[in-house]
Amino acid sequence: MRSPDPEDSDSRRVDPGPTPPAGIDDALTALRQIVGETNVLTDPDAMAGFLTDWTGRYRGAADAVVRPRTTDEVSRVVAECARSGVRICVQGGNTGLVGGSVPPARDGSTNALIVLSTVRMTDIGDVDTVGRCVGAQAGATVGAIDDRAGRSGLAFGIDLASRASATAGGVVSTNAGGTRMIRRGNARSQILGIEAVLADGSVLRRWTSLVKDNVGYDLPSLLAGSEGTLAVITRVLFTLVAPPAVATVAVAAVERVENAVELLGAASSAGLTVEAAELMTEAGVALVADHGHRRPTTAPGPFYVLVELSGTGDIESATTELLGATDGVIDAVLEPAPARALWAGREGHTEAIARSSSTPVVKLDISVPIRALPEAFAELSRVGVDDRFPCRPILFGHIGDGNIHVNLLDVPPEHATEVTESVFGIVTANGGSISAEHGIGRAKVAWTHLGRDATDLATMRTIKAALDPRGLLNPGVLFG
Ligand SMILES: Cc1cc2nc3c(=O)[nH]c(=O)nc-3n(C[C@H](O)[C@H](O)[C@H](O)COP(=O)(O)OP(=O)(O)OC[C@H]3O[C@@H](n4cnc5c(N)ncnc54)[C@H](O)[C@@H]3O)c2cc1C
Repeated sequence: MRSPDPEDSDSRRVDPGPTPPAGIDDALTALRQIVGETNVLTDPDAMAGFLTDWTGRYRGAADAVVRPRTTDEVSRVVAECARSGVRICVQGGNTGLVGGSVPPARDGSTNALIVLSTVRMTDIGDVDTVGRCVGAQAGATVGAIDDRAGRSGLAFGIDLASRASATAGGVVSTNAGGTRMIRRGNARSQILGIEAVLADGSVLRRWTSLVKDNVGYDLPSLLAGSEGTLAVITRVLFTLVAPPAVATVAVAAVERVENAVELLGAASSAGLTVEAAELMTEAGVALVADHGHRRPTTAPGPFYVLVELSGTGDIESATTELLGATDGVIDAVLEPAPARALWAGREGHTEAIARSSSTPVVKLDISVPIRALPEAFAELSRVGVDDRFPCRPILFGHIGDGNIHVNLLDVPPEHATEVTESVFGIVTANGGSISAEHGIGRAKVAWTHLGRDATDLATMRTIKAALDPRGLLNPGVLFG
């Protein structure tokens, strides 16, 4: 997935940078021998889409885009880069929202840089229906893995609106959450095994369908959330889940955020399983409706909660009863899952928001404890309103995980730091995290101290130095 509208954003005007650093020509010759001539792109137009992130906020420069097909090719590409001191930016579907998937702008470093794209690494193995797992190459998309699982009556435990482009390597590297997180856990909890190429080109392979296997450090877990700074993931062995036999999707317009939180608690108390729970606001729903999606309920409300519920018995009646007993419900609509039209109203938010801002959206993906959610939501909704740095906030999120996506539209680029700090001030005061599921990337490097203490950060740097002593993998991501 590239930036929403390459014609509108000036992503095609990426500066390829000054004369390439000395020595890159020899490295490129070697890389062409490994992956083939056509899979080393150096033409600025051909590279442009790989150098701009989905939000349009981050644009970088590279000497080439290299597209290996196999683990062996990745290994040889990385070994060649290590030999010649070429830095590597790893890229999957380029749907990341924190600028980690694109290289830095030309930064004066004398070291050359390539984008290593997994776009050709799309193989998915046979589903093990007994062990409930499947192996996929890093570039296989979430949607393709779920389709493959579905053909065996199973499902992929990770789902997100970017499913058509986000990849196995990307969701593991960012430790993505997504809409099924409340039920299935994050990407880390879906990994049984992993294969990755280390910074010297050697291949680390932990590939076993054993669910119990405690021999030393949990390296697959370490790579989950490492944002391409420790290794290039080449294949992942994912656990699969049994989808619920019956589920109902309801969207309720509610008066207050508290009503949505209470609804989730009441659903669990009633013995229903919450498969997904999303919160939206009238501002977001109206924007999405302007972009062609139907409004979920007839009567509007200041807030909307989407819940997908499963269980035994008559789920639809149980859900209707639940909604009837919940305070603050103004109007509601129910459909049997998958209820794609109802989901489209929620999933259309990111795209509609991106298209509606006069400047690249400042996207801050945060989490707070559930008990603090109503207060934090109210405070965050006021950022940019009657403020020194006015902008338009639109909030939505995975309410069951305390995860709010704060989108600030029309922020003059010179004020992006100030509005970010306003948001993070509210988040930390409420005991939350500055990154719920998108990672740190380049966007939040300056604020990692708000989420981890000095010893913690130093330990992470020690791990980075041990695995990538020359800092060749994803320079500027996570550590700056
Ligand atoms: C419409 C939309 C909805 C979204 N919804 C969600 C959501 O609900 N939950 C959520 O968590 N995220 C969401 N995202 C963000 C994004 O889709 C996720 O972060 C996703 O995991 C990124 O996958 P990708 O393949 O696009 O990775 P990229 O964007 O290409 O890369 C992301 C990071 O992973 C690294 N990386 C990628 N592949 C590899 C690899 N093979 N080895 C090592 N490092 C690698 C990159 O270097 C970068 O640091 C959404 C994005 C969009 C556009």
